[in-house]
Amino acid sequence: MDLIRKANDLGFIAVGFSRPGRPSFFDHLRVWISEGKHAGMAWIERHLNLRENPAMLLEGCRTVITLAYPYSSCKPYTPEGLCAARYSEPQKQDYHHRLRKRTKILAKALQEHFPGTRSRICVDSAPIMERSLAWQSGIGFIGKNTQLIIPGHGSYVFLAEILTTAVIHFPEPRPMENRCGSCTRCLDACPTGAIEGPFQLNAGKCLSYRTIEQKEAVDRKTGKKMGDCFFGCDVCQEVCPFNQKHETGEIILPSANDILNMDEKSFRETYGKSAFARAGLAKIQSNIQAMDNERQV
Ligand code: SF4
Ligand code: SF4
Repeated sequence: MDLIRKANDLGFIAVGFSRPGRPSFFDHLRVWISEGKHAGMAWIERHLNLRENPAMLLEGCRTVITLAYPYSSCKPYTPEGLCAARYSEPQKQDYHHRLRKRTKILAKALQEHFPGTRSRICVDSAPIMERSLAWQSGIGFIGKNTQLIIPGHGSYVFLAEILTTAVIHFPEPRPMENRCGSCTRCLDACPTGAIEGPFQLNAGKCLSYRTIEQKEAVDRKTGKKMGDCFFGCDVCQEVCPFNQKHETGEIILPSANDILNMDEKSFRETYGKSAFARAGLAKIQSNIQAMDNERQV
């Protein structure tokens, strides 16, 4: 079976293979957690033993397949110019569902090709160090902004994994050396100083965390640093020379005022299955309120 071709036909732009050993960046993760840089994301602390040994996620696991799926480089805008991070693609179903469907098709084909084998799909659904495994598989390098960068495409990608008991033979993967060189654009451009040094992200300062994951409302001081973006943040990816493709934004969101006046029922009907649902209406409204944006009516 030509797994890579099948994956490409399903829209995946990169496929990598690795064995389920201790992820290369596991120690880095442990230090990061011990320094409290994961902020309120306590779930990252849990199941560290599984993160250390992905083979524990599937008994008899012999191969890890990493898949990268692109998201649009076009930002969704409100008519007055507020926007959301690109990955949110709010007009579509949450990427977890979309990616899972495609990954399942591939896993099924794999099982048909290797009868008697088992597999497990991970789309942010299991404690697995996906960027580390992606890097080990050789499909990209980790930039100073801590994103996985796939040369020729950039970092606007979602990752998914298939763990399988099938022993897939593949050439020894060659993890890619970092290609940032002397560039420091992401560090310089980050509005909150969340990239405290190369490869050093402090999630507690990061707008992606603060506008989506953090339970408490964003304070106005931080709101001033959000620019036009009320959901997530793309700055450290926008400035990256490896992301050369920036399509013009599209006005597909309601006005800020309409969002502020939206009720739960309409939010659920319109965005209940999209990535916006993760933050929820109240969080999105409080983000907009914190922005102090003159375009806000
Ligand atoms: S997502 Fe935004 S706030 Fe977070 S590190 Fe990147 S530029 Fe900084
Ligand atoms: S902006 Fe520059 S330093 Fe940052 S990840 Fe991209 S290439 Fe690396």
